[in-house]
Amino acid sequence: STRRASGAPSSDPVGIDTTRASIARVYDAALGGTDNYAIDREVLAQVARAAPEVKDLAWSNRQFLIRAARFVVDQLRIDQFIDCGSGLPTAENTHQVVQRLNDEATVVYVDNDPVVLAHGRALLEENERTHLVDADIFVPEDVLGHEGVRKHIDFDRPVALLHVGTWHHYLDDDAPDLMRRYIEAFAPGSAVVLSHFFDPETAELSPLARRMEELFIHSPMGSGRFRTRAQIEALFGDLRMIEPGVALCDLWWPDGPKIRPLNQVEQCIAGGVGVKE
Ligand code: SAM
Repeated sequence: STRRASGAPSSDPVGIDTTRASIARVYDAALGGTDNYAIDREVLAQVARAAPEVKDLAWSNRQFLIRAARFVVDQLRIDQFIDCGSGLPTAENTHQVVQRLNDEATVVYVDNDPVVLAHGRALLEENERTHLVDADIFVPEDVLGHEGVRKHIDFDRPVALLHVGTWHHYLDDDAPDLMRRYIEAFAPGSAVVLSHFFDPETAELSPLARRMEELFIHSPMGSGRFRTRAQIEALFGDLRMIEPGVALCDLWWPDGPKIRPLNQVEQCIAGGVGVKE
């Protein structure tokens, strides 16, 4: 087997232990959801001491996911989605976004958090084109070889891989190699949608990004790397980037004009869409 231990604490899921924070529950708390515990909210409170607007990391990310998923189904005409790290069900989930535009679109969600798997089975598996599987998103073969993925995704046709708000929870430096293993499995015309905590490498913002990183990694959640533009671009390998390439999530094809300046936290999350030629 090509399976191996991955460089992410979350590869060993937290479980329903209420004394340990989980990525999915912290993210749910940031989005104002109710599927979280005090320990999860405490992670955000700790980071908020350095970055009061920390919850905007989640909001900017989620809005990017929704716009990018819409773009993929509407413009790229892709109708099968593997959504790695689905998160807890929230107001607008990937299958609702894409099936509104194409009711034949198939979405396979992948997560390993027991709370996500329990709530998700009920809420995300709303119809026969929406599925949820338990696999480690940082072990490509685990996802690509999963029987639920093989059953519902046709690898001879274009696929959209969503890895949105996930790779910052992978701490090692070989993330681009792992992404390459995903991309190799896909047909031409496939797309990758990806976002990541971002170190803007400016004198003003880099110290804030590094401080948030330190706080997240040493929090009970245990992960949250802020990677540079070059490091995030490397995750797309040699895909052709849809303009404007890797951009701040808020500035990747926003829904309308920006009528206020982005705050500091909103400048620390970036994403993009790449297409396999
Ligand atoms: N993709 C969604 C979004 O952008 O709105 C949710 C992002 S949330 C920050 C990250 C998700 O990845 C969580 O639901 C978490 O449980 C999941 N996750 C983290 N590490 C994982 C792993 N090793 N295997 C599977 N899922 C994982």
